[in-house]
Amino acid sequence: MGMNIKDLIGSFALKELVTGLSVTLKYMFKPNITVQYPEERIPVSPRFRGEHVLRRDDQGEERCVACKLCEAACPAQAIYIEIDTKSTAEKRLTRVYDIDNGKCIYCGYCQEACPVDAIVLGPNVEFCSETRAGLLYDKDKLLANGERWKTEIDANLKADAKYR
Ligand code: SF4
Ligand code: SF4
Repeated sequence: MGMNIKDLIGSFALKELVTGLSVTLKYMFKPNITVQYPEERIPVSPRFRGEHVLRRDDQGEERCVACKLCEAACPAQAIYIEIDTKSTAEKRLTRVYDIDNGKCIYCGYCQEACPVDAIVLGPNVEFCSETRAGLLYDKDKLLANGERWKTEIDANLKADAKYR
């Protein structure tokens, strides 16, 4: 099908070009909405699902009670837990708690499943790795993350508590 008259006139009048330039002009004098990352940052939602952490309680004890609910809930089978043989009836502990971030889809099901708020997806967005090994998190790394992001995570959980 050939061009109709209206399209023909429009193309001679550079209609698309004028429309495009008018959009440019419209936004030229408005405030910038882009940020110069990493010098500038935007706020991160309290519900943001970033890098995993394992939390300790106020006495410094591991919150995790080795119930394995997070492992069962994980749709990507990214969590691997072994229970410590030193576990007692009062306190069950994990000997191994691994997360393969190469498999993780950051759905947050592990956090939702945890009855004691031990495993949490924290606010850290900057944890990329250039190696496969760098994506494998063990218990020590997860607990260290919990210490590093404690203040932010405590505040986020508090802010979100009324919606849970
Ligand atoms: S965020 Fe989802 S995929 Fe990742 S470890 Fe937790 S449950 Fe598994
Ligand atoms: S992190 Fe939570 S859900 Fe997972 S094993 Fe520990 S207590 Fe259970």
